[in-house]
This record gives sequence, structure tokens and C-alpha cells, in this order.
Amino acid sequence: MDAPLSPGLYIVATPIGNLGDITRRAVEVLRGVTAIACEDTRVTGKLLNHLGIKQRMIRYDDHAGDHARDGLLALAAEAPVALASDAGTPLISDPGYKLVRAARQRGIPVTSLPGASAAIVALTLSGLPSDRFLFAGFLPGKAKARSDVLRAMASVPATLIFYETAPRLQDALEAIADALPGREVAVARELTKTFEECRTSVPAELIAHYAAHPPKGEIVLVVAPRGEDTAEEADVDALLQAALAANKPSQAAAEVARVTGLDRKTLYARALELK
Ligand code: SAM
Repeated sequence: MDAPLSPGLYIVATPIGNLGDITRRAVEVLRGVTAIACEDTRVTGKLLNHLGIKQRMIRYDDHAGDHARDGLLALAAEAPVALASDAGTPLISDPGYKLVRAARQRGIPVTSLPGASAAIVALTLSGLPSDRFLFAGFLPGKAKARSDVLRAMASVPATLIFYETAPRLQDALEAIADALPGREVAVARELTKTFEECRTSVPAELIAHYAAHPPKGEIVLVVAPRGEDTAEEADVDALLQAALAANKPSQAAAEVARVTGLDRKTLYARALELK
């Protein structure tokens, strides 16, 4: 029998696909708390069911009013309360920030149990520089706002990480090609699940690939930092050859210059060699 948990808020990371990624400590805490605050009681209920845990669940998101937050914190002041999201680490593009802030302001102990987060899994898989990165959550859905966000990040000297959904992937890749020309991008999909995939290339190749193979599932985009990211020669040749299949050398060079940010004249010379 585990020792009883002391009162406070326990932030519990849960798997992002593979249920084997739940930690032993997460199981102990989910079992030992008085209640679990969660985004969707059906989703968390399924996880608890899988773990053989019966627990009281309280629906919570950051749009919940002060009243709901006060109730949860009053409980956490007296007893252990867990916070879980549908998948991965709470607060990471998920609810919890306002709850944690309010708990700390009231002197309620907060502890965080580490576990899966799609951003980190994607970064480690991408083959892109991992020494410095900026996680920017979801890109806006509207074209102008998306482009503004990407342009504002053009000068950030770090690998960029965005969450995406399959239906918006192509628009996001087009926007990255326009706002951040020449960057390699990793599309990390269905992480930790059976059909996990991570494809790192220049946006034009990714756009062509996903036009032919419409993606399914959840996606993280990892964008190479400025400077260290120029498309490799082999990629450029592949792009030119793809463009040459349907275009004259001048048009092919212009198209590849647009998506890679490389010099059009140099690309034209190379297109003539390849033709
Ligand atoms: N809190 C979660 C975390 O720590 O990763 C993220 C929650 S956010 C609402 C959901 C987004 O995370 C998805 O749209 C996708 O971009 C990303 N994501 C979550 N699970 C994923 C997976 N298994 N593979 C790829 N991306 C995933």
C-alpha cells in the first residue's frame, strides 16, 4: 500500500497514444488522490478504466469561472487533487495554467509529474537542432494571422515547434514555405502510436507528399532554425527535378526559389544541368 498523498495539486502527464507510457508515479497518484480534475471525463475515464482505477472526476478547463476554480482549490487545500488532460502534459496547449497560478497564489502545494508531451517527442525525432527551441502551440487558423505569427518568428534563433491538425497541414506548410523560406520542416504524426511517422524535408516536398498521401491523426511541426537550415543540395536537386517534370527550367527555378529562398539564377543554372 502506497503512503497517503499530502494535500495539494498534482499535475499528472498521461500518454499521447501508447498507454505503456504512463509512469508508475502517475498511476500511484491517480489512484491515491481524492479527485481528478480533467478536460473530458469520458477521455480520462477510459484511461482510468484501462488502469483499473475508480476515481471521482471533476470537469475543468481554464474557461471555468473563478467559482469552479475556487471549489477545486478549496478541495486541494485539504486533500490531494490531480490535474490531467486528455493526452500528454497538462498546461501544454491544454488547460491548467490558471489553476496552477491560483494555487500558488494561495500557498497550495503544487507538484508536477513528468511524462509524455508531443512537442518533445517530435523534437527528439525530427533530426533538427535540439539545443534551443521555441514551442509556439497551435498556429492560428486564419491565413493572415498565421502568416503574421510565422513572420514574427523568422528572426528567432531557435528550432520552432507547432501543434497542428491533419486538415490544416497543407495550409500550414504553404505558410511556412512563404514566411520562412529555405527551412527544413519535420512533420511528426501519430507519435507513439502504431502508424507513427516523422518526415523531415523542405516544405515543397512535404506538400507534394501529403497531397498524394492525405495525412490522418495528430501532428507536430518542427521547423529548423534560421541559418542552419538551408535545404541540402540533394533536396534541391530533388525539388528541381520534380518541378522540371511539369515546367520549363526558368519556371522550375522560380518555383524552387520561392519555396527554398535560394537564389533563382543559381537554381536556373542547376536546372539546365539537370534537364
Ligand atoms: N498536452 C498535450 C501534450 O503535452 O503534447 C498536447 C495537447 S494539444 C490539445 C493536442 C495537439 O498535440 C495535437 O493537435 C497535436 O498537435 C499534438 N499531439 C498530441 N498527441 C500527439 C501524437 N500522438 N502525435 C502527434 N501529435 C500529437
